[in-house]
Amino acid sequence: MSRSINLAVVPGDGIGQEVVAQGLKVLAAVLPQDVKLETKEYDLGAQRWHRTGETLPDAELDSLKNHDAILLGAIGDPSVPSGVLERGLLLKLRFAFDHYVNLRPSKLFPNTATPLAGRPDIDFVVVREGTEGPYTGNGGSLRTGTPAEVATEVSLNTAYGVERVVRDAYERADSRPRKKLTLVHKNNVLVYAGHMWKNIFDRVGQEYPEVTTDYLHVDAATIFFVTQPERFDVIVTDNLFGDILTDLAAAVTGGIGLAASGNINPTGEFPSMFEPVHGSAPDIAGQGKADPTATILSVALLLRHLGHEHEAVRIEEAVAADLAERAPGTTRTTDEIGDALAVRVAS
Ligand code: ATP
Ligand code: MG
Repeated sequence: MSRSINLAVVPGDGIGQEVVAQGLKVLAAVLPQDVKLETKEYDLGAQRWHRTGETLPDAELDSLKNHDAILLGAIGDPSVPSGVLERGLLLKLRFAFDHYVNLRPSKLFPNTATPLAGRPDIDFVVVREGTEGPYTGNGGSLRTGTPAEVATEVSLNTAYGVERVVRDAYERADSRPRKKLTLVHKNNVLVYAGHMWKNIFDRVGQEYPEVTTDYLHVDAATIFFVTQPERFDVIVTDNLFGDILTDLAAAVTGGIGLAASGNINPTGEFPSMFEPVHGSAPDIAGQGKADPTATILSVALLLRHLGHEHEAVRIEEAVAADLAERAPGTTRTTDEIGDALAVRVAS
């Protein structure tokens, strides 16, 4: 556990600015006096691109490397062509800092708007592969824009890449009370990548005799996320399946306003990055309507990653208590929710 945190802050676009301010408020409130917090803000995202044409210059990439962790709000705006910021900034960061574990916990908090309210404990975590699959930009298009166009988007899977994320998922499953790990893929159709994932999953599993394992095709997994979510503990899956499954998980366990995530480099060679699952939500930006809870829970993941387990739990308990006591039918501003949680974690 570090006695100082040197944090890079990338508020980004739209509601990113608003929710990150609340995340920092709660972070400052929860840290003990003797932990020194230093923050440096980075101006990255749509405005920067409009001004300078830059997405993530090398100088800033180098500078980001020097931080213990990165807190990101949201990147993206309809005024920027699709893909420019996703590839030029978000994916560039993920690849440069080798964020091969994309961690997305799903927990059913009390008193939340969800079709699953009242279910027994839903508390699972998706470990999504972060650097391979169809996200590597490996593909192309021939005769673009013509009726004879052909486009490919290759899914890249390496034994090295699959083994390290599978191993991370086993470690996480082994450290949780239920010790259950489910592999999600589609190995009846995607036979090359699917069989490699399954073989590596089975082989690494021999080193974790206490972990119970299961395999589901991704289509079946979407059914069980809704009908039997309590059957899941830790899930490991590829980059694209993980992207889709975690939005579904967020929707069924309390909404996008609560879903936190971490882009993790488990070796510690590079800083890990924590961000809400949601995007910049231009439709509600600047109105004080955004729920900052997902960002505040991402701060909890950040603290846990840096060894501040006690403070991470304080934030998670504060969120659970805050939601439990929330008066039904009332709405609170972004600031009000941030203030309420800052007060709770400090007391
Ligand atoms: P991206 O491509 O960046 O993931 P998206 O198209 O998935 O973006 P979001 O920005 O996540 O879209 O927004 C989807 C919907 O959820 C919008 O209607 C938005 O207003 C709402 N939303 C997103 N985040 C929040 C939040 N923190 N609080 C309240 N509503 C939110
Ligand atoms: Mg989205």
